[in-house]
Amino acid sequence: MTAARPTAPCAEEAWCAAILHAAGCLACRTSGAVCERGEALLAAYAEAVQQGRSSFWCPPWNC
Ligand SMILES: [Zn+2]
Repeated sequence: MTAARPTAPCAEEAWCAAILHAAGCLACRTSGAVCERGEALLAAYAEAVQQGRSSFWCPPWNC
């Protein structure tokens, strides 16, 4: 468990949200398929990283 968490949205949470969605979404797991929800989650994660809101990389196996 991590100690203090930032109050602002961070890349870690965005990444975990994207991974958790993809894990249970058939469309995301299908090669060539397009999932709007998955794309939005990944975009949110990429945006969080680009804005430097978090340098923390959360491996999928830790989510
Ligand atoms: Zn999906």
